[in-house]
Amino acid sequence: MLVVMNAQATPEQIQAVEARIRELGYEPHPIPGPSRTAVGITGNAGTEGRDSLRLMPGVEDVIRVTVPYKLVSRETKQEPTVIDVNGVRIGEGGVTMIAGPCSVENEEMILETAHFLRDVGVRLMRGGAYKPRTSPYAFQGLGIEGLRLLAKAREETGVGIVTEVLDVETVDVVADMADVLQVGTRNMQNYSLLRRLSRIRKPILLKRGMAATLDEWLMAAEYLAAGGNRNVILCERGVRTFADHTRNTLDLSVIPVVKHISHLPVIADPSHGTGKADFVPAMSKAAVAAGADGLIIEVHPQPARAMSDGAQSLNFDAFRQMSDELQPIASAVNRRIN
Ligand code: PEP
Ligand code: MN
Repeated sequence: MLVVMNAQATPEQIQAVEARIRELGYEPHPIPGPSRTAVGITGNAGTEGRDSLRLMPGVEDVIRVTVPYKLVSRETKQEPTVIDVNGVRIGEGGVTMIAGPCSVENEEMILETAHFLRDVGVRLMRGGAYKPRTSPYAFQGLGIEGLRLLAKAREETGVGIVTEVLDVETVDVVADMADVLQVGTRNMQNYSLLRRLSRIRKPILLKRGMAATLDEWLMAAEYLAAGGNRNVILCERGVRTFADHTRNTLDLSVIPVVKHISHLPVIADPSHGTGKADFVPAMSKAAVAAGADGLIIEVHPQPARAMSDGAQSLNFDAFRQMSDELQPIASAVNRRIN
């Protein structure tokens, strides 16, 4: 349920509604809007207490939210959520570019990449310090040392850092350093991790599970919001299908659907979506045309020497060229790359 306060409701009236919701045994989630505040209610399967809330001073209406992902749905909040990462505003109508290597491999390559990105106007850099690898024998990431190198790259260039958090044990160290914490496709339904991340303040980039339906993905986002972290950026990175011409099938049709039913920003990852550098530019353009709020692209100074995901990583020249080609596509859909 959602309690919609009237435009004149005082802070005291809102607090009284929150207290009453708690008294009824539920959790209140105040959602300030441009003209009025609403208070979302979770933990409430039925309509018990609805009438008592409706009669309280300052209450305009009490509405039933029909979808199970209460807090992330447009039924609860119509205005798009804008996520501010060091001044980069994701979801405000622009196309936010996040780029960088799959993994942080050494100081030289991460600094070189950060300087390159800064020079071409990209303000957020990705790079994994903790890597979820299919094989236990593959490069697992530099861990703490990788985080230290990312911090150095930020210090030198000012780029914000997006990096993956693999498990509950490393949430604190990753959250201390990162500007955005990435939850990978394999962890989308790791509920203990999501619950832990719901209690931090930093934004979460929540990748879609490779076999997750839209409902499952939004329910994962709901875990974050329900625990108190509403700074969630969704990321479509391709799903498993019978098609084997690309690494995954980048489900671009999910982008307009997500935007229709959720207020959260959604970005696309054509690198993992295609698995092949040659096809990343075309799918990046398609994602922008489909309404993505941003792109996350793997870029490496020497893709052939990358320790992970080299085949899908663009070199600097290819990234520069793709960025140029994206501009007219963004303009055509009234967006700017930022
Ligand atoms: C990554 O971003 O390098 C990564 C491991 O992504 P995903 O979880 O989408 O496979
Ligand atoms: Mn990767």
